[in-house]
Amino acid sequence: MVKRRQTRQVIVGDDAHGRVAIGGDAPVSVQTMTSGYTHEIDKCVAEVRKLAAAGADLVRVAVPEKKDTAALKEIIPQSPVPIIADVHFHFQRALEAIEAGVHKIRLNPGNISDRAQVKDVIQACKARKLPIRIGVNEGSIVERRDKQKRMKELGGVFSDNKNGHLLAIMIAKLEEYLEIFHEEDFHDICISAKSIDPLLVVDAYTEISKRFDYPLHLGVTHAGPRESGAIRSVVPLGHLLCSGIGDTIRISYANDPIFEVEDGLELLYVLGLRPRVGAELIACPTCGRIQVDLFKLVQEVRKELAKEITVPIKVAVMGCVVNGPGECEGADIAIFAGDRRGIIYVQGEKVANVPEEQNFERLLAECRQFQAKVQSGEAKLGEKKVDILPPDPLGELGSGWSKTEQRAGARSLEVIK
Ligand code: SF4
Repeated sequence: MVKRRQTRQVIVGDDAHGRVAIGGDAPVSVQTMTSGYTHEIDKCVAEVRKLAAAGADLVRVAVPEKKDTAALKEIIPQSPVPIIADVHFHFQRALEAIEAGVHKIRLNPGNISDRAQVKDVIQACKARKLPIRIGVNEGSIVERRDKQKRMKELGGVFSDNKNGHLLAIMIAKLEEYLEIFHEEDFHDICISAKSIDPLLVVDAYTEISKRFDYPLHLGVTHAGPRESGAIRSVVPLGHLLCSGIGDTIRISYANDPIFEVEDGLELLYVLGLRPRVGAELIACPTCGRIQVDLFKLVQEVRKELAKEITVPIKVAVMGCVVNGPGECEGADIAIFAGDRRGIIYVQGEKVANVPEEQNFERLLAECRQFQAKVQSGEAKLGEKKVDILPPDPLGELGSGWSKTEQRAGARSLEVIK
């Protein structure tokens, strides 16, 4: 069990959109950002709805121009979740977004630093009880021309740290900015300190968590495409979350933001920080014993489970009968796909032995039936009625061994040649 750091709590939302608590005893929330133009109202609403349906608790939109904040008046009433306005460079956009009914503002100290302007935004948020995220992205915290000078000035603060100078600038910038908020007695604050460097992300959030009790929004900025960005994001976020740090997360990909939501939720599920919604699919990686096209079967099962199953049943799709049973411990439903046939178990009990072409449909039928039983109270998740006994590969799966032996023989012949 992860013991989470205690923070203050902010509330984002209203009666119409639901209230999402960040920090305190609230579960870690998942947020993302639309990728289209906010002023294209219908497209923006469609994207927000798609992201909310995928499980996003909060959705942020960019408002670089007045036509974007004007669009918020029509977008917000159509959104199923609270909307955050991402404001850079123009403090007026924040005031316009607040006027349009947005639920939270994100400010970047690197490009809105005028104290009077920041105070105007703080007062407008205070009047409407809206929280503000202070986002000190490494890439935009100081003007480029000042960066080298500041790095020299502050480099000694974290001299034992590879990124000490950057870390020092981020912390110093944050402290300076927070002063403005404290002068206004404003504490409805979330903090983020993103960088492209996963180790700097860990250090920055760890340091901030020691200094302030505001809730933290975790993220890695410009993480790249999902293929590499997933590792870049999940390593520092997972590390921080396991240390109890982090109250809301955004994974950033150069891809459809729906993947940010899916991967963010999966991260929280596997760490036990959120109760899973929908099936958990486990599958073997396959090996030289494989006798079916398991990758295809797994993908088909994954897509269908996502559509049909809302209960967190654990489903295992295994590639053979030899090691599969031992490797899917704890699954509610499991299939061992052998040579031309598949054997299906429900909580340890063998319920079917079907021809290969029926593997997919029969497995899904068992998942649907099991879900109905869990919902009616007839079955309990995670129970095991009996231990799964591996089927005899020489018996009901027909030519399992002979096929394996043929392959082994073919292989050794190749070696001899
Ligand atoms: S279940 Fe069978 S095919 Fe899959 S990895 Fe294990 S031994 Fe290999």
